[in-house]
Amino acid sequence: MRIGVLSYQGDVSEHMDMISSMGHEPVPVKTGRALSSVYGLILPGGESTCQGKLLKRFGLDEPIRERIRLGMPVFGTCTGAILLARTITGSDQPRLGTMDIEISRNAFGAQVDSFETELAIRGITDNARYGLGDFKALFIRAPLITSAGPSVDVMAAYAGRIVLARQRNMLACSFHPEMGEDDRIHKYFADMVEEYSNIAREVDA
Ligand code: GLN
Repeated sequence: MRIGVLSYQGDVSEHMDMISSMGHEPVPVKTGRALSSVYGLILPGGESTCQGKLLKRFGLDEPIRERIRLGMPVFGTCTGAILLARTITGSDQPRLGTMDIEISRNAFGAQVDSFETELAIRGITDNARYGLGDFKALFIRAPLITSAGPSVDVMAAYAGRIVLARQRNMLACSFHPEMGEDDRIHKYFADMVEEYSNIAREVDA
């Protein structure tokens, strides 16, 4: 299955490696042409003002919104979650804005305040399909989802705050699941992509 990774900036290669190691085909996405060839898209961690500006400059923001609207699964990690958020606290920086969440950037402080913790994730760490047991999550200048609309499903929280959530075909997390060995969240996302690609192929047929 072809899964895209938005490739302007950030930890692109870590996501690409994880997609390949699961037996799928990673596709770097910088253009509309590459976008139209994938069944799912990962928005990697990095720097959200930079990535948001590039999305706009290369005219990829509207095509991505349209694909999301039509059902393509998207997975925003850290910066990617910021780009998905409808509201970014105190900022009008460019974004996709498709997900009904409010997010606060750098909510845990500076780079030195980065940390690792064990998380229970509803639907993943309690699901034998993916393997039971907590997920080691790495937070690097991480954002926090400070509020979520009624159709958003909260999947994980840290210190009472939302760090992983899903709304329909959109998945957003504030940490970095592409770093380390544990690929369970990527597997969960690949399942979303698989389900969508089956429907999309049927419609195309
Ligand atoms: N603080 C970064 C931002 O606002 C996100 C950090 C990350 O992706 N690790 O974009």
